Amino acid sequence: MAEPTLPPQALLELRGVRKSFRTPERHERTVLEGVDFRLEEGEIVALLGKSGSGKSTLLRIMAGLIRANGGDVLYRGQAVTAPARGIAMVFQSFALFPWLTVQENVELGLEAGGIGPAEREERAAEAIEMIGLGGFESAYPKELSGGMRQRVGCARALVMRPDVLLLDEPFSALDVLTSETLREDLLDLWAERKIPTKGILLVSHNIEEAVSMADRVLVFSSDPGRVRAEVKVGLPQPRDTESPAFRQIVD
Ligand code: ADP
Ligand code: MG
Repeated sequence: MAEPTLPPQALLELRGVRKSFRTPERHERTVLEGVDFRLEEGEIVALLGKSGSGKSTLLRIMAGLIRANGGDVLYRGQAVTAPARGIAMVFQSFALFPWLTVQENVELGLEAGGIGPAEREERAAEAIEMIGLGGFESAYPKELSGGMRQRVGCARALVMRPDVLLLDEPFSALDVLTSETLREDLLDLWAERKIPTKGILLVSHNIEEAVSMADRVLVFSSDPGRVRAEVKVGLPQPRDTESPAFRQIVD
């Protein structure tokens, strides 16, 4: 008899993930209702959605920062119930500690991971250099431009040598040019395999940005109280974001 063939394990898989929050009036407000999603090894996926559609909530669940109310969240087949070692996240608002230097901000996660001072210093310096901030190790966030601050945010994620990188609208606070250069730099690190990362999920509300980075774009569709990632866009080459079919999905 033939061996049963199991579907290959996804890097990240969500099955029927639900999340609701209690409003100040003590109503349950459903933000995610039955989200199914797979991030396969080797791909960059973008998740497009309007503000308030639950994108950050979904990423925080994947990162193990908050728990879903139902469904399964699997990282390489293992349930995610707390921050997983292989998953790192970059935040929209940078989330840097203003009283710490660039170097100290980047080392923080390694320290929490129990890595000793010498290795922390070396790895942080490497990540800072890699993201183009060499020479700014001793600077404080307030001395840096927005683009540079977000590079610190990226270095802080990359220093963990993440298997999976979750990007929560990391470019939305940056001007167009700054955003573009950071995107290209991240794509170079990925394409040239300078980082060990096997999959990237980019959350965005910007079509151009999503299409410029991703192999696959998913769109969050929202009915009142229901949000579901349900449209998969197979992008033709060259990707025509002005095509009526694409606009129809996104608008
Ligand atoms: P997006 O990132 O797509 O803008 P969010 O995931 O941040 O959306 O938020 C989705 C909805 O969930 C919003 O209405 C937001 O107010 C609500 N929400 C998010 N986090 C919480 C929380 N901790 N408590 C209550 N409501 C929340
Ligand atoms: Mg958000």
